[in-house]
Amino acid sequence: MNAPAAASPHVMNTYARLPIAMSHGQGCRVWDVNGKPYLDALGGIAVNTLGHNHADLVAALQEQLTKLIHTSNYYHVTLQETLAAKLVELSGLTNVFFCSTGLEANEAALKLARKFGHDKGIERPEVVVYEKAFHGRSIATLSATGNPKVQAGFGPLVEGFVRVPANNIEALKKATQGNPNVVAVFFEAIQGEGGVNPMHLDYLRDVRALCDERDWLLMIDEVQCGMGRTGKWFAHQWAGILPDVMPLAKGLGSGVPIGAVVAGPKAAHIFAPGNHGTTFGGNPLAMRAGVETIRIMERDGLLANAEKVGAHLKAGLEAALKSEVANGGVKEIRGQGLMLGIELSKPCSALTQQCADHGLLISVTADNVVRLVPSLILTTAEADEIIAILCPLIQKFLAP
Ligand SMILES: *Cc1c(COP(=O)(O)O)cnc(C)c1O
Repeated sequence: MNAPAAASPHVMNTYARLPIAMSHGQGCRVWDVNGKPYLDALGGIAVNTLGHNHADLVAALQEQLTKLIHTSNYYHVTLQETLAAKLVELSGLTNVFFCSTGLEANEAALKLARKFGHDKGIERPEVVVYEKAFHGRSIATLSATGNPKVQAGFGPLVEGFVRVPANNIEALKKATQGNPNVVAVFFEAIQGEGGVNPMHLDYLRDVRALCDERDWLLMIDEVQCGMGRTGKWFAHQWAGILPDVMPLAKGLGSGVPIGAVVAGPKAAHIFAPGNHGTTFGGNPLAMRAGVETIRIMERDGLLANAEKVGAHLKAGLEAALKSEVANGGVKEIRGQGLMLGIELSKPCSALTQQCADHGLLISVTADNVVRLVPSLILTTAEADEIIAILCPLIQKFLAP
């Protein structure tokens, strides 16, 4: 029997890690240091868009390493312009700020919202945020997050947020009624960490209309649900709307740290030199990762693949878990494309280890939701393999 990876005495204890350490990967598979293979249905938490060791991405990054890794934003970075032009084309928005992570993209969005307010004379701007939202772990983004566990121990929280429930336009109107300080509405098109909870398409359209009516920014956090995962470049595009501000990260660089905040005309010119910045953001290596990720996604039709394989996976899960859905052990199977959640009737974090024992990587979020966010190169055969490993384990877990 191979020894489990030991707990590290030197790395800070911020994650309840499984006793596994990975060695290498190929496509949708990874191998641990003992040589055991795993089918990867987590994709580095919706990050590894192209899977592991994608030959074309690796070749491009190797070439980039020999040219430039980093220069600083004191100079123009040609690849920033290339990637920004591409994101503008895909989103229908106009300008991009690059950073390195999701929380930084969301910080930039919140700063845009506040300055948008200050620019029109609102001294204490407020942003509408949502129950069960997750926007990151900086002090501002954890304050915007709607999960007491993320906030516990880190008060005082940043002020200037109004919290509302999802998919309830009347609640949004009521919570903001007569409040002249509201400047923006901020949410994930599909909540990720909160349990794979989609915003309804008609709700997205209603919020867009309300933001227009009230002159608020519509800011949609697409850090997890964006970059092709649902079968469109950005999940809000299913509703046929445009946001004013759209933070991105996770899948944008296929594993290389990268973040971006994409803005439309209403928000694109709020920042002037000196208002915002970052040392690493937009460096040539990260930009090359973004450019190549999108190029390969387009060339290989990965949006269509995410839609097709995602629908296949969802239908397969529904079929395999039919009696659990009928008897209430499985409360709901939801999500879109390759962003799926299976909500169980009880907390199920134990399933992550049980799946890993059987060679499958998943995560459990919001205590009782099995989350599947694999690479967008997943095949139907691999989807069938996920179903074949996962569903019997869920059945066993739910059995009285
Ligand atoms: C992961 C995530 C973040 C935070 O991204 P980091 O790169 O971990 O800072 C923000 N918003 C959403 C929706 C996320 O899923």
